[in-house]
Amino acid sequence: MKSIHVLEPGGPEKMQLVDAPTPQPGPKQVLVRLHASGVNFIDVYFRMGLYKADLPITLGNEGAGVVESVGSDVTEVAPGDRVAYAMARGSYAQYAVLPAAFLVKIPDHLDFTNAAAAMLQGMTAHYLTHSTYALKSGDTCLVHAAAGGAGGLIVQMAKMLGARVFGTVSTEAKAQIARAHGTDETILYTQQDFEAEVKRLTGGRGVDVVYDSVGKTTFDKSLNSLRPRGVMVLFGQSSGPVPPLDPNILNGRGSLFLTRPSLGHYVATREELLWRAGDVLAWMESGRLKLRIDRTYALEDAATAHRDLESRRTSGKLVLTIP
Ligand code: NDP
Repeated sequence: MKSIHVLEPGGPEKMQLVDAPTPQPGPKQVLVRLHASGVNFIDVYFRMGLYKADLPITLGNEGAGVVESVGSDVTEVAPGDRVAYAMARGSYAQYAVLPAAFLVKIPDHLDFTNAAAAMLQGMTAHYLTHSTYALKSGDTCLVHAAAGGAGGLIVQMAKMLGARVFGTVSTEAKAQIARAHGTDETILYTQQDFEAEVKRLTGGRGVDVVYDSVGKTTFDKSLNSLRPRGVMVLFGQSSGPVPPLDPNILNGRGSLFLTRPSLGHYVATREELLWRAGDVLAWMESGRLKLRIDRTYALEDAATAHRDLESRRTSGKLVLTIP
């Protein structure tokens, strides 16, 4: 089978298309013939060695396809089922062996590209808005990179839950995309001081929660944008990692709460996975949730997809289509 391997950590040039043996499923495992793979920053972090794994690494943490065969003790799916998953590595490939418990069935009217695209960022937006800080009507939130993959979905779910949503973006073109996702106020953080804007828009109070995927360049002002006892949700680092900090700054800025969550901990049980994925895929099928696919690439062009994602030029999801 064709797959994209990383033999040593580094830039996109370290990604190689190889012919590898098709793996076979063991107990509680399933062999899936993949048709689409999402592209995510987590793939970039594994490629560059920021997140560690044994080499060679088959990249990709999100995919959709058809169950080819199952190992022993598998009850969740059967051969021929259309399935999708996130948070198991190896989706930049024609086949992947996956834990059966990670797979969910794709609704009839959703294609593989959209199903693969929805899983990781969709379930992330779901846990951030429904669990990490469960938004309720009247809450105010700040979402960074609001035209981005995760950001755009957070905005839409926050609006479903009745929140007032401020979104930051780098360009006017991205501002239009963020508004289409539903932001009530859109701040160009490359031109405006977003902390001052948030204070102005909230009459000096600050927001209840910040969803910050940008990290290094936004973290400090995000803390300052919160109301006393507000919640800082740092869930990514698109601009680079946040340097170590003294916990006393949380006291000094108003008894704030800080969390650094991961999707894996919020789909810890099969029940929780089915809840989040079920909501996301059903909302996509009904049109209630709109996922913006920015570009699709052939499997062999995965390195170009990484370059585009890292360049800050994308606004929405990147997907590999698999022959
Ligand atoms: P996005 O589609 O949001 O792309 C990144 C965006 O970040 C850019 O489009 C850009 O938007 C903004 N950005 C700001 N500064 C930079 C910079 N220096 N370089 C590049 N981008 C920058 O990506 P994703 O939605 O896929 O992921 C966003 C982050 O969230 C990643 O760090 C990812 O790892 C993390 N994440 C975490 C999860 C979790 O469970 N903890 C799950 C999913 C994602 P703009 O131009 O508007 O500034």
